[in-house]
Amino acid sequence: MSPRRLRLAAGLLALAACACATAPQSSSRTPNIVLFLVDDLGWQDISLPLGPERTAQNARFRTPNVERLAREGLAFTQAYSAAPVCTPTRAAILSGQTPARSRITYWTLRKDSDTSAPFLGLLPPQWNMNGLQPEDTTLPELLAQGGYHTIHVGKAHFGAVGTAGSDPCALGFDVNVAGHGAGAPGSFLGTENFSGAARKGDPVWDVPGMERWHGKDIYLDEALAIEAVEHVGRALDAGERFFLNFAPYSVHTPIQANARYVEHYAGLDPREAAYATMVETMDAALGAVLDELERRGVADETLVIFTSDNGGLSAHARGGTPHTHNAPLRSGKGSAYEGGTRVPLVIRWPGVVRPGASDAQVISTDLFPTLLSAAGLAQPSDGVVRDGIDLTPLLRGEASASQRALVWHQPHYWGTPGPGIWPYSAVRLGDWKLIYRHADRGFELYDLAHDLGEEHDLAASDPERVRQLASVLGSELRRTRAQMSLGAASGLRVPWPDDVAWPR
Ligand code: CA
Repeated sequence: MSPRRLRLAAGLLALAACACATAPQSSSRTPNIVLFLVDDLGWQDISLPLGPERTAQNARFRTPNVERLAREGLAFTQAYSAAPVCTPTRAAILSGQTPARSRITYWTLRKDSDTSAPFLGLLPPQWNMNGLQPEDTTLPELLAQGGYHTIHVGKAHFGAVGTAGSDPCALGFDVNVAGHGAGAPGSFLGTENFSGAARKGDPVWDVPGMERWHGKDIYLDEALAIEAVEHVGRALDAGERFFLNFAPYSVHTPIQANARYVEHYAGLDPREAAYATMVETMDAALGAVLDELERRGVADETLVIFTSDNGGLSAHARGGTPHTHNAPLRSGKGSAYEGGTRVPLVIRWPGVVRPGASDAQVISTDLFPTLLSAAGLAQPSDGVVRDGIDLTPLLRGEASASQRALVWHQPHYWGTPGPGIWPYSAVRLGDWKLIYRHADRGFELYDLAHDLGEEHDLAASDPERVRQLASVLGSELRRTRAQMSLGAASGLRVPWPDDVAWPR
């Protein structure tokens, strides 16, 4: 028996013991789970308004299936990704650990290889460049132990190419369709075999396991939707509860139009039109899964979560003016500002979640304990410290959101210049957000209740609040054993935010 199998068996025994001791709710009543995690989908990239008013972007994009989900579910207006780039958020969902703690603070690609861009005066710390690995306890692993058939479809980007963690089946999934260590497809087109070879692209981006669709006139996420529906059908045929982790490769680069939808966006900047077709393709994939749940009569016993792994791309590769695509939020993917981390989140759980909207401040890390709880499973008692909170009392309407500090920590430079795109740590507490820039040890303070666009930096006029929030941020960073950026010349760690005198 392999070490992993042994561990699974031990886990099952532990679960059995737990069931005797705590008599959890009947397993027959726990829901199927669909986590639909879109790549790089911005807060404004859907036709469902999540801000104070309906915007031009809400009017531009066509996401009827997100709207459909929201009519029957709870739409969160202040949901956040755990990080402003891909891997740290994806790893946080699977591990339940905030990126500072897991040390998966940036996106991964190849084994032992640092993807951080150079930043004047700073070096990144020795972070976990290989991402999640089989020895890490993961959400799908725990759900599998609890009787769920666990299906991954689409982009994985959990562990680096050349490591075991690049394969979702090494991280607790029973099935993997198209997931591996790279975080973008060479091409979205079946006619190009989902490869960038025609453009002499690096084969590392070739989407694996999709040979069935090669040469066909099909967009990648259309093919993934068909595969997801097939695997859901097989699980239902076998009488199994399932966890479907459907992570479309859309709407990440390369921005490539889906010709089926181009006519919907006549008159738009061609690049933006192409992007809008990717959004619509993603939405249609969601719709295909929702339709199948209804067709099979299991929609009422399935929990569906729709969200994104980071804010919308705006610094490059888009049409129009850079850094404006997430307005009224400032900046976008890679940034410390709200455009980098505020994301759509809709949760439909028939019979449990009352439809409506919630302004609770929640973060991707919460999905780990929340989905275990929804599945009727105990939180792991393995001594590993995790960071999210179980949102099921909030979802059941049994509790209101309690105020807590949300922390982001990215001691890396994303590589494209733009507002807030630098190595940083940040905290949100109530309406207030403090950003700590590692390079110059400077602070920015924003009142998000009155300044959603982070236009008015109050750090100079309210130093007392800066010191209070710097203390909270410093405590959280030490508690999670965060690795700060290093001085390039000195090699010394950048000081904790509460060790910096303010005002200077
Ligand atoms: Ca992403």
